[in-house]
Amino acid sequence: MNQHERTAFFSFLETAVRQADPEVATALASERRRENEGLELIASENFVSPAVLAAMGSVMTNKYAEGYPATRYYGGCEFVDVVEELARNRAKQLFGCDHANVQPHSGAQANMSVYLATCQPGEVVFGMDLSHGGHLTHGHPLNYSGKTFKVVHYLVRQDTETIDYDALRDLARQHRPKLIVCGASAYPRTIDFKLIADIAHESSSMVMADIAHIAGMVAVGLHPSPVPHCEYVTTTTHKTLRGPRGGMVMCKAELAEALDKAVFPGVQGGPLMHIIAAKAVAFAEALQPVYREYIVELLENAKVLCASLQEFGWRMVSGGTDTHLMLINLGADGISGKKAEDRLGKAGITVNKNTVPFDTRKPYIGSGVRIGTPAVTTRGMGRNEMKTIAKLIDRVLRSEDEAVWAQVKGEVEELARAFPLYGQV
Ligand SMILES: *Cc1c(COP(=O)(O)O)cnc(C)c1O
Repeated sequence: MNQHERTAFFSFLETAVRQADPEVATALASERRRENEGLELIASENFVSPAVLAAMGSVMTNKYAEGYPATRYYGGCEFVDVVEELARNRAKQLFGCDHANVQPHSGAQANMSVYLATCQPGEVVFGMDLSHGGHLTHGHPLNYSGKTFKVVHYLVRQDTETIDYDALRDLARQHRPKLIVCGASAYPRTIDFKLIADIAHESSSMVMADIAHIAGMVAVGLHPSPVPHCEYVTTTTHKTLRGPRGGMVMCKAELAEALDKAVFPGVQGGPLMHIIAAKAVAFAEALQPVYREYIVELLENAKVLCASLQEFGWRMVSGGTDTHLMLINLGADGISGKKAEDRLGKAGITVNKNTVPFDTRKPYIGSGVRIGTPAVTTRGMGRNEMKTIAKLIDRVLRSEDEAVWAQVKGEVEELARAFPLYGQV
């Protein structure tokens, strides 16, 4: 679609909503303007194609399809079966896995399904600590995972801020967990999935690798894949994978039946067939050579952005990045992550506050910000823009002056306009 067609496409959709609900239509248009005019640097966000959006907004939302292709509990499933088969087969092709369940509504529910398939309440589960890069669903006390299982958290090393695999091995020998969860939300370095799987198997533990963030790199072979080593691999489909908001679980053939039962009827009811259609479309896109080029570019952009921020004197967690994301450690006596997030937001730059390893501030305040390049790379931005963005971030973080933030906002809008996204609002 060219820009003109995109504008027509979105105004058609918004007109349809406006006739029924002007308030929601106005919010939709405002959100589209915000996405068009801002700099989206949240590492877990991306911009889907009009094809993915159209599949999400399709009639398949109307269909009940409890069960799996050819074994449904409802009639009329012949066409939703087609899209679920396509989604499953494309996922298998993308990741080289034996089996894929594309029904989880989200990353959190993908993880919940694996817990249900593998562990009994009270059993020992390992996950990386939240402030060291892990996810809420990896055993945080406020999450069902932390409430249901006896969770032991492993950490990064204090000197390198990379996963302490030796300590993990010691912990595994000591506790013999049922399941070791690896993968992260805020960890900028390559994860050695093979090593973690070896550590787990030495202690007769199973492994779930959660590649929610790095799925895009894994799919194109630019991050080592956990699929050959781990019993289960979970992911979201909306982060680097650039599909609809949703989840997926992959596993070995012999575990497939138990996994499918854990997803449905274990943790979910009817699947979201419109979202599964959009997953199929996104996987088809990810199988194209241009998607690999996108991932190459996104990684290069992250390296350039990270190096530029370092040149301005910002300290990066672990000293750099191997992935699409990086964390600035603002320091215990610097401005907090929350302040930095608010201030950058006023300048039209969206990031999220984050704790850093061994943080002394509370999670809601944090001493870091997480920055990622998936969304800006989708817009077509490259190295030069990354250097400009580093300069803009540096100016905002170093200034207490609202006028400076407002001035940067103007420059952000100009930069964004040069990389049109979703048509004119
Ligand atoms: C984002 C994320 C999830 C959760 O995904 P939701 O779709 O928001 O539930 C799970 N695990 C990791 C590592 C993530 O980064």
